[in-house]
Amino acid sequence: MSDIVNTDIKLGVNKFFVDEEGAHIKLKDDADRAEVKKLIAACPAGLYKIDDEDNLQFDYAGCLECGTCRILCGDTALESWEYPQGTFGVEYRFG
Ligand code: SF4
Repeated sequence: MSDIVNTDIKLGVNKFFVDEEGAHIKLKDDADRAEVKKLIAACPAGLYKIDDEDNLQFDYAGCLECGTCRILCGDTALESWEYPQGTFGVEYRFG
């Protein structure tokens, strides 16, 4: 029998070096809401959210650079997707 993995705890050990000057993922202003729902469901870091006023919220700071959002909604919801510039981004730690 395998142990249950708590993904929040696993993700919490990672370090993020955030490029405050340049977002490596940018959303379209008019992102399709059906596509946005895909992002909310699929982003493993939970970075896409709809707030109480029905606005899409996204914070690239906790991005795991997995590329899921790019594959799912590259043309419909994202303006651009790039890896962070050198020295920025996620540093994986396996705890
Ligand atoms: S690359 Fe992965 S972790 Fe980063 S925003 Fe897209 S789905 Fe979320």
